[in-house]
Amino acid sequence: MNLLFAATELSPYAKTGGLADVLAALPAALRRRGHSVACVLPLFRSIRETLPDLRPTDLVLTAPLGAGLPSARIWEGHTDRDIRVFLVEKEEFFDRTYLYGPPGKDYADNASRFFFFSKIVPLLARHVRPTPEILHLHDWHTGLVPVLVRAGRLPFRTLFTIHNLAYQGSFWGLDFPLTNLPPDYFSPAGIEFHEHINCLKAAIVFSDRLTTVSPRYAQEIQTPEFGCGLAEVLRERKYKLSGILNGADYSRWDPRNDPLLPMRYSASEPDAKRLSKDLVAKQVGWVPSGAPLFCLISRLTAQKGIPLLLEIIDEIRKEDGRLVVLGEGDPHWQESLLGLAREFSNSVAVHIGFDEAFARLLLAGADFLLMPSLFEPCGLTQLYALRYGTLPIARETGGLADTITSWDPVAGQGTGFLFQAPVASAFAEAVQRAKAVYRDPPSFRAMRQQAMRQEFSWERSAAAYEEIYQRLLGGAAAD
Ligand code: ADP
Repeated sequence: MNLLFAATELSPYAKTGGLADVLAALPAALRRRGHSVACVLPLFRSIRETLPDLRPTDLVLTAPLGAGLPSARIWEGHTDRDIRVFLVEKEEFFDRTYLYGPPGKDYADNASRFFFFSKIVPLLARHVRPTPEILHLHDWHTGLVPVLVRAGRLPFRTLFTIHNLAYQGSFWGLDFPLTNLPPDYFSPAGIEFHEHINCLKAAIVFSDRLTTVSPRYAQEIQTPEFGCGLAEVLRERKYKLSGILNGADYSRWDPRNDPLLPMRYSASEPDAKRLSKDLVAKQVGWVPSGAPLFCLISRLTAQKGIPLLLEIIDEIRKEDGRLVVLGEGDPHWQESLLGLAREFSNSVAVHIGFDEAFARLLLAGADFLLMPSLFEPCGLTQLYALRYGTLPIARETGGLADTITSWDPVAGQGTGFLFQAPVASAFAEAVQRAKAVYRDPPSFRAMRQQAMRQEFSWERSAAAYEEIYQRLLGGAAAD
């Protein structure tokens, strides 16, 4: 099959979260299965600076944007996996420091930026050879593409993947002229939602098929608690919605071959893990210790349960427990965490920023990874943590529920510590369970071995997507 992926992130060239890792891995896994896959992204500054073999093509595409008629030159390059990437060059939109806006903020012209990108995607698809039959679209930035395909009766099938329902691309109705769609599309049956344009809703209504990134999250988002207002819209279309778990790319995320780690280790020879723990301590200015080391590696947003972490800091610090946080995001959470680090400088260290090498060192050196997420569509960090032998302590939701099994002390089985209610006491109790296992080295070792042997391969995910593509090509549009 011939597939064109459209998205705004691609590791390592443009990344703010897990979406980038999916775009790096899934096309490559599909190609291994014999399909032809290309990607299209905006030519963000970071991509311009880092993508190898990037060059302009002769192709210039023009799309109306309200009263304007802007053009974009298409560039072309290849990822380090040799996946062909097309880039939409529009300097005034995409040549900026951040992808979406400074931490905690959105650029004021995001409607123009991503409506324009969405308009270019189907135009480009007509020029790509071999011609794609399926446009596989990711998150709200590409949400208008299924609408444009349907409205223009274009010869593509659309699959839209929701990586996070909380980000919807909602803009006031005054921006509707920027879509250049007929006025009746701004209605409850169309792309309007509570008097706003809602790009995610647009994709949910107009795409031929919908997926999200774990089976549990596919169920959860149809309920008011997790539906972010769109539960009803999704429930009405559950016949075309399924959940496919993301994989972990073990060629990049495995302590046996991670080039960014100072020392390698494996499930059968885990000694270097201890040395990595000492290195983490040194890096944050502590004397190495044998006490349990917790880490949090995350965007700092309400989704990630940061308030719960702030509330249980005393529980973590008991028995000399230590915490290292790596993250960036909401300035309010950044400040609160930095305040803790100032107050408890011997046991809490906070590094604000996006730092992949340090993330990997933490995954290698910590004993436990904290993920108290209020919701988690899939979560990749816990998949990596499992492989690095860092046991996740996580809320039982979304992909966390689908990928972690809670430690059962009687059976001696499990790969992490799950808690259910999104409250500090439940999280603190999970931390206590983790510390109890830590105090019992044979159990702790057994658990770590089980965690490191888990397999969440992209091959399995790619096979599941392939089935959906096949059904899309075999049948009529679902909606
Ligand atoms: P999300 O997509 O919601 O951000 P995931 O767990 O799916 O969450 O993916 C997050 C990815 O980003 C992981 O690869 C994680 O290691 C990485 N990451 C998150 N924050 C940071 C940071 N501050 N520095 C380096 N890597 C980070």
